[in-house]
Amino acid sequence: MSRPQIDAARARALAAEGWGLEVHELRELDSYADRNFLLDTDAGRRVLKISSEASEPRPVLELQGAALRWLAERPSGARLPRVIPAADGSDLLAIRDQAGAPGHARVLSWISGTVWAERAPASSALRRELGRALAELDRDLEGFSHPAMARDFRWNLERAEWIAEHLELVAPEEPARRALVVDALAQFRARVRPRLAELPRQLIYGDANDHNLIVAGDRVVGIIDFGDTVEAPTICELAIALAYLSDLDDPLASAAELCAGYSERRPLAPLELDLLFDLVRARLAVSLSSSAERAAAEPDNAYLRVSEAPAWRLLGALSERGRVAFTKAVAAACGLEAPVRVPGAVDREALLERRRARLGPSLSLSYADPLYIRRGEGSWLFDEHERAYLDCVNNVCHVGHSHPRVVAAIAEQAARLNTNTRYLHEGIVDYAERLCATLPEPLSVVFLVCSGSEANELALRIARAHTGAEQVAVVDGAYHGNTSTLVDLSPYKFAGPGGAGQKPWVQLIPTPDPYRGEHGDDGPAYAAAVDEAAARARAAGEGLAALVCEPVLGCAGQIVPAKGFLAAAFERARAAGAVCIADEVQVGFGRVGDMWAFSAEGVVPDILTLGKPIANGHPVGAVVTTPQLAASFAGGMEYFNSFGGNPVSCAAARAVLEVIEDEGLIAHARELGGWLRAALEELDDPGVGEVRGRGLFLGVELVEDRAGKTPAPARARAVVEHARRHGTLLSVDGPAHNVIKIKPPLCFGMVEARILRARLAAALAACP
Ligand code: PMP
Repeated sequence: MSRPQIDAARARALAAEGWGLEVHELRELDSYADRNFLLDTDAGRRVLKISSEASEPRPVLELQGAALRWLAERPSGARLPRVIPAADGSDLLAIRDQAGAPGHARVLSWISGTVWAERAPASSALRRELGRALAELDRDLEGFSHPAMARDFRWNLERAEWIAEHLELVAPEEPARRALVVDALAQFRARVRPRLAELPRQLIYGDANDHNLIVAGDRVVGIIDFGDTVEAPTICELAIALAYLSDLDDPLASAAELCAGYSERRPLAPLELDLLFDLVRARLAVSLSSSAERAAAEPDNAYLRVSEAPAWRLLGALSERGRVAFTKAVAAACGLEAPVRVPGAVDREALLERRRARLGPSLSLSYADPLYIRRGEGSWLFDEHERAYLDCVNNVCHVGHSHPRVVAAIAEQAARLNTNTRYLHEGIVDYAERLCATLPEPLSVVFLVCSGSEANELALRIARAHTGAEQVAVVDGAYHGNTSTLVDLSPYKFAGPGGAGQKPWVQLIPTPDPYRGEHGDDGPAYAAAVDEAAARARAAGEGLAALVCEPVLGCAGQIVPAKGFLAAAFERARAAGAVCIADEVQVGFGRVGDMWAFSAEGVVPDILTLGKPIANGHPVGAVVTTPQLAASFAGGMEYFNSFGGNPVSCAAARAVLEVIEDEGLIAHARELGGWLRAALEELDDPGVGEVRGRGLFLGVELVEDRAGKTPAPARARAVVEHARRHGTLLSVDGPAHNVIKIKPPLCFGMVEARILRARLAAALAACP
């Protein structure tokens, strides 16, 4: 940014010509973007402010002038500079600087006193006084309106998310510092952004820093520089002041004093108090990102590092003390209750003990230090202290945790009726019609069940009923469910810890893994194994009832099968008389950037099984098949499922379909997933063997060495634990436990993707 070029002589001339001021003495003042001069004149001291059109366009200057005039008639006007009109009566004169660049000149009254930055450390009394002065200013500005006040402005704290684009520039040599900025952004994104619309808003001054406050003793006698004034949540005023004026050695007590003074004049609403800590940290992160951006452009500017030192210290100190302590201190000083978002949290350690005593030990908890999660919203989960964790693995809460439309659909239907499918109800029929409308013919008959496992169980029964055969072919590494039959069918389980080995009715097809498989990316070569499986099944006298396959493999390690595998495998299975079952329990409903993962493979299964994302966490599964197979299954025995297809489940599932469509989540998964995959491929780490996947279903395979591809499970575990400690939830899978899985809710945004990239990069660097 170039400041206007105006020398002393030109400044004198402007003051004389424009304002008729006889200048005795003139001194240039410090300024970030403007050029300001202190003038000693017959009429007293004045400030001549010159700004360039490029950095402060006319409407913004008009906004400032209008705000100052509005305030001049109100109590806080006593602390503010007055606008001195030019000889022609206007507040602003259009000028050109000495390089010919357009700009404006203004004259304001001078406020004498000491600049806060130049005085001895502030007393408690002064901090309280400043709090009161800012609250008075905010109250006086309530009701003010101007066309330019909603301007697009990077220092507007509610728009702090722009810093997501610059995370790679922040503290390149100091990962711990960068992590603070990433976390400030994350908490802002998770906690503040969804609540912005609920906060009271107005024009705020927005720049209470130690260079803009004039003090005399314990009084604040001047508040200057309205260059950052903007419409924003009112609480940003206080957050900005706290970011600059907290005592670095005692940030909580000093913040509490300032807030106490503020709330004497303008009591904080519970939500304002709840978000204040995150707003202060966000402001510090914005300042530091802005200075990182400048440092990248001016690498030799040592002053930048010096000037950002207090912000780093305060960000570190606040982060260490944490939101709970900060909010309690402020609440106590203001005589308010500290807000509790979700009441009823119990002691975490005691809960862990109780769980261990009552729940079966085979039920696992994620992470070495298990999380106590009490709330979810969008892509974020919140622990008992309201710390936000970025959820990069929950593909069940598909359209976002606690999506309001799904919540409302469940609540409304639950309040009216929940029963089974033995009565007519439009919910199940509507849903079956809507679901089939997304599918190619002949997939047109629906069974609703309660889980992915139930869906696969039913699919096997249908296939066996239709073919009269018994054996089933399955891809190595796959997981299809938790029942006895499905554990026997899932190599992921039967060949893993505690597994009972392969049963005679199960035929294995090698994993069509382009990265590790023996046929590389030659799909049909892997599919030849289906013929052998069918031959073995025939030889056993049982025949092959089905081939079960995920169109993109999940537990096997986030593998997109080798090109042409699915089509060739289906063809061979059908030739052997078997039914083709596509298990899209994980990858259906838009996850991979297409509504159905099979469609990109150019096949249509005979049976499609669905689950997990289908109802955003409400227990629903589905089987969709052809009229012919459904008829074969109708052998006289009723298929009854107590809960399957109940009206509440159908309402939840229907809401999910509607949200996917209305929010454009399929295209979003494709586009953001593509960006994320490319961003992860750029991670400069020799231990990343492969980044793969489709849409928002990605895997990062870690190896000891790229040539030998030796799996690196210990590192994968360490990376996931590091990310968890820093607020990002990932998991590990694959037969060698070395693939980091990424499958977030589809509402995952670009800011989330950038946070994930930064945190994964940090974790990889910290866990070599
Ligand atoms: N199939 C696949 C591909 C799965 O990933 C899963 C669950 N991980 C299941 C079936 C079983 O689903 P559920 O846990 O709902 O029974």
